[in-house]
Amino acid sequence: MSDKTKDELRQEVEKRRTFAIISHPDAGKTTLTEKLLLYGGAIHIAGSVKARKAARHATSDWMEIEKQRGISVTSSVMQFQYEGKQVNILDTPGHQDFSEDTYRTLTAADSAVMLIDVAKGVEAQTIKLFQVCSKRGIPIFTFINKLDREGQNPFELLEEIERVLGIRSVPMNWPIGMGRELCGVYDRMKNQVELFQGKDHNTIEVRKTDDYHDPIIREMAGDYLAEQLANDLELLDVAGDPFDYEKVRTGQLTPVFFGSAVNNFGVQTFLENFLELAPQPTERKTTDGSVDPNDEKFSGYVFKIQANMNPAHRDRIAFLRICSGKFQRGMSVKHVRVGKDIKLSQPQQFLAQDRDIVETAYPGDIIGLFDPGIFRIGDSLSEGKEVVFNELPTFSPEIFSKVSIKNALKQKQYLKGLDQLTEEGMVQVFQSVGAFEETYLGVVGQLQFEVFEYRMKNEYGVDIQLFRTQFQFARWIVGGKVDPTKFRINSTLVKDKNDIPVALFENEYAMRTAMERMPDLQFLEVAP
Ligand code: GDP
Repeated sequence: MSDKTKDELRQEVEKRRTFAIISHPDAGKTTLTEKLLLYGGAIHIAGSVKARKAARHATSDWMEIEKQRGISVTSSVMQFQYEGKQVNILDTPGHQDFSEDTYRTLTAADSAVMLIDVAKGVEAQTIKLFQVCSKRGIPIFTFINKLDREGQNPFELLEEIERVLGIRSVPMNWPIGMGRELCGVYDRMKNQVELFQGKDHNTIEVRKTDDYHDPIIREMAGDYLAEQLANDLELLDVAGDPFDYEKVRTGQLTPVFFGSAVNNFGVQTFLENFLELAPQPTERKTTDGSVDPNDEKFSGYVFKIQANMNPAHRDRIAFLRICSGKFQRGMSVKHVRVGKDIKLSQPQQFLAQDRDIVETAYPGDIIGLFDPGIFRIGDSLSEGKEVVFNELPTFSPEIFSKVSIKNALKQKQYLKGLDQLTEEGMVQVFQSVGAFEETYLGVVGQLQFEVFEYRMKNEYGVDIQLFRTQFQFARWIVGGKVDPTKFRINSTLVKDKNDIPVALFENEYAMRTAMERMPDLQFLEVAP
């Protein structure tokens, strides 16, 4: 590689910011995403992300289930430029029923924005998504939204973030009033007041101050709010965590921003600070050391496979996160698992589901590869040394159903579908070990069952029946011989696709008792 090409690669890597927004449904993710896209010029009219969503529902039937439930089952990627940065937002399903795909998509991100509703605080889905990001040690930025509504006291919110999520926080700005009294925020880093004006809270006046005692604040916000602000900030200065970039970078400290997405308040400040502080693509782990994004040889891994985007073609799209080198359309790369060279000729990039052919792409970017059935989730592609990325976490299923076919003549298609959909990572499958041949499916979100049922029918022509069970936990058993008769009460013994014994439990008590009774065995949360 010439010096010029190396420089180009380095510059492109430096520019990239790839992140996901994690939140509980209704916190305002669609709204915030839309405002960010507006700033980036990727869309020009407010409402277009939502409108596009609606239009897709009206015109496409590639996944009936999306239409029926009015939800986004799939994650898409949105790209825009802002002040010289190339921004990739990974969109994750916002519905309560998320799936393993949601988790896997998070591995493609280099940082996360945690969106919290000021009134509701830290909610269930936020916790789950946070934990996945936290395990990877990526930086997490917090945006506390809906400040135009009465919410919780900001100190209580910070305390809740620390107590529930176990991460320290550092407020980058602080609200001046809240709800109807809200008049702006104080930027602690720049020592400036940012005031809303007008009824809609959307015109912003920015005034530099010496510090938070500056008389300007009194002038702008009135005595009462100015005093409250000074008291709060004094307390923060004394008792709060100082800003520490190293801790932010390693995910131990989350910078917190307050704002209101729908009123466009605090969004631009947030975006600018975020792009400044968020990391560019960094090294990625492989089974043999790590790969630097500036390595000249192209490499990447498939983190998600999307079936049936176009029902006429029955195609699948494999989503690839580029980890190193420059991608060029038509290039040949090694498909490491199958040991063959393949040509990447029809790659696509996504903006809220619009598909454009992409000519070049760089580390941090996500491309969609046309998949005639050659990819599996987790597959690595590489131009140089054969690398295998091991970024994808496995999750312990939490919901289990027994599955059977309605028409026994369809057995062959059924087994084929079961095999392919488990390979795609749609569901995990388990077989009973007793006299009755029973098949169980395990998932992390109820929606996965519905999509599974739908795809079995539409792609394999098989009607299935699902019976929801009471099981809530799966534990892979290693370390010795397992006696199935020990798993009769509130539990059962099954085996996974590799014949490893797995115990399913209805509750924590049953699981604890089994572990205590069989101290020689190890009970693992995920497959060994
Ligand atoms: P998502 O489910 O997280 O994508 O949430 P949406 O972006 O669809 O927002 C959920 C609801 O909250 C919508 O009715 C939004 O208009 C509203 N919303 C979003 N941001 C704000 C905000 O800053 N203030 C208020 N009052 N409402 C907001």
